[in-house]
Amino acid sequence: MATYRIAVLPGDGIGQEVTPEAVRVLKAVGKGAGVGFEFEQALVGGAAIDATGHPLAPGTLDLCRRSHAILFGAVGGPKWDTVAHERRPERGLLALRKELDLYANLRPAKCFPMLVDASPLKRSVVEGTDLMVIRELTGGLYFGEPRGVERLADGGARAVNTMVYTSREIERIARTAFEVARKRRKRLASVDKANVLVVSQLWREVVTRVARDYPDVTLEHVLVDNCAMALVHRPSRFDTIVTENTFGDILSDEAAILAGSMGMLPSASLGGSVALYEPVHGTAPDIAGKGIANPIAAILSTAMLLRYTLSLEKDADRVERAVVRVLEQGHRTADIAGPGARTVGTKEMADLIVRDVEDQY
Ligand code: NAD
Repeated sequence: MATYRIAVLPGDGIGQEVTPEAVRVLKAVGKGAGVGFEFEQALVGGAAIDATGHPLAPGTLDLCRRSHAILFGAVGGPKWDTVAHERRPERGLLALRKELDLYANLRPAKCFPMLVDASPLKRSVVEGTDLMVIRELTGGLYFGEPRGVERLADGGARAVNTMVYTSREIERIARTAFEVARKRRKRLASVDKANVLVVSQLWREVVTRVARDYPDVTLEHVLVDNCAMALVHRPSRFDTIVTENTFGDILSDEAAILAGSMGMLPSASLGGSVALYEPVHGTAPDIAGKGIANPIAAILSTAMLLRYTLSLEKDADRVERAVVRVLEQGHRTADIAGPGARTVGTKEMADLIVRDVEDQY
């Protein structure tokens, strides 16, 4: 029997509530599919600061490196807002991304038919949305040098950030995107600003070259301003989108609105030898500890883990199907319930999904 080690990093706030439910779903899959999972938990974020003084506890990175995949919750909260910048909870996550070279961030945004009215956008706009935004995560404007603020003799100041990409960085994210598009509806939109930025011109050149290795995937180039507009006008025209760090940061949040609630959105960060799977949402201090957080984003992250790290497509489908069925039966956590609807808590929602997964084997 194949056995996989999963590093479990719940972090803070509702991360500690939804991650154990995601683990339960993986255990159900393991039992049904005859796959062994070994779960090992470690500290990250505020919980790690409290216990060790560091947002990435000693040993956590080591555990991640020894694992096949990482199941991450969320980090941060008001308790640590006054901690020095380099010791803040999110530094734990940023350090993991950097150390593990997680350069590709995958964020699906799907509008489930039964939740169409949970989106602030019109039904006619969001209906049929099922897209994946792939954001380059370790390069571009957020990391480029030189950067800094210079005080000028006239009393003013001058600030600089640098958008920089090498052809190697573009090629590897492009290959990830073509591979993902191949597993979906075989359409890839590469988003850039090639009419203005030379970095985008190189981006376009490299993506076009990589496309020759994927003749079964249809590639289009879309300008970022156009893409931002199309996402809230006709999102169903997109399947897979690939873009650089800054554009991806903005567009993936815009796409999140299409799905209705942060509690529905999973993500994957791929790159080096081990990938990290986490809900898109944060620690939700306003509802933490109440047992009402939606566990679906964390649970759908396990489906991504099964699909992208373990290539267990059918089992990933089972988890996604279980979520759809439980929603079709009318069960809702508070964040996706309409006014007056009966709601279930975190545990009850996960119980329903686990039971459905078990029934599929
Ligand atoms: P948030 O995602 O935690 O919450 C935004 C809103 O969505 C809140 O009203 C919250 O109650 C709701 N929400 C989020 N997830 C939900 C779920 N699963 N079920 C039901 N409702 C849900 O964003 P925020 O409030 O801006 O940030 C709170 C803390 O989380 C901050 O400290 C921030 O730095 C941190 N954060 C961490 C990550 C991460 O670890 N990857 C990401 C974003 C924010």
